[in-house]
Amino acid sequence: SLTVGVLALQGAFSEHVQLLRQAAANLHTPGLKWRFTEVRTPEELAQCHGLIIPGGESTAMSLVAARSGLLEPLRDFVKVLRRPTWGTCAGLILLAESANRTKKGGQELIGGLDVRVNRNHFGRQQESFQANLDLPFLGRTKTTGKDQPYRCVFIRAPVVEKLLPHKKGEQTDEATLDETIVAPSKTPGDEFAQEQLNANVEVMATLSLRNPNLQTNQEHDHAGVEDIIAVRQGNVFGCSFHPELTDDPRIHVWWLEQVLKAVEKRQQYELVERTK
Ligand code: GLN
Repeated sequence: SLTVGVLALQGAFSEHVQLLRQAAANLHTPGLKWRFTEVRTPEELAQCHGLIIPGGESTAMSLVAARSGLLEPLRDFVKVLRRPTWGTCAGLILLAESANRTKKGGQELIGGLDVRVNRNHFGRQQESFQANLDLPFLGRTKTTGKDQPYRCVFIRAPVVEKLLPHKKGEQTDEATLDETIVAPSKTPGDEFAQEQLNANVEVMATLSLRNPNLQTNQEHDHAGVEDIIAVRQGNVFGCSFHPELTDDPRIHVWWLEQVLKAVEKRQQYELVERTK
């Protein structure tokens, strides 16, 4: 069986669990049993093959994570073990290597995506809005097709404002970068780790507020700008909006497929290592 956790410290975690269940019912993986669990402790995290970090309040979430002794285990999970992780809205902020408007000492990030995010990007007037968008990556799944646009819900959403130079496992000035990343040890699955470390940031979706499908009456000053609202780097995926606040399981279906692929790939690497 495969266990997928949802970080349940704060925010829209139960909504994610609901949609994961719906997604698993849509996925054709006979013989495979999915388990979906809420994660509040390092022990619960250790059980997970993949993890979702929900929307909510990233500052609150990281404070609680720090207090629950989860911050380092989360960094390990994402950046060293490179297990599939998906952050939505506040979750995207936490997975960024860098974010603005974070009070000094007030918010620690997990990291894993070499990007800089701009929190509350759309400002006051555009705090919350919805847009029906074609998400190109959904087209890549056999199960879902891509005929229908996806209703993206933005609530005080961040965007990715900058792709940061990729570190490729080299020493950096980020003191938080774990040594295991810098000099991987020779254990099974190393090739997997290396491949993950070499992965670049891919832009998965953008939004222009000129989009005619935007459901808002409000004026804005971002006209014509293409904002990056979804990125992936290896096994780490993040989006600005809240799929968990819709009843459309397509992104969850797509992501579970990615989790499955990542687990299979890791098993293959380990098998090759063992038979060498
Ligand atoms: N603006 C929030 C933050 O900084 C994120 C909002 C959300 O998750 N809906 O954490």
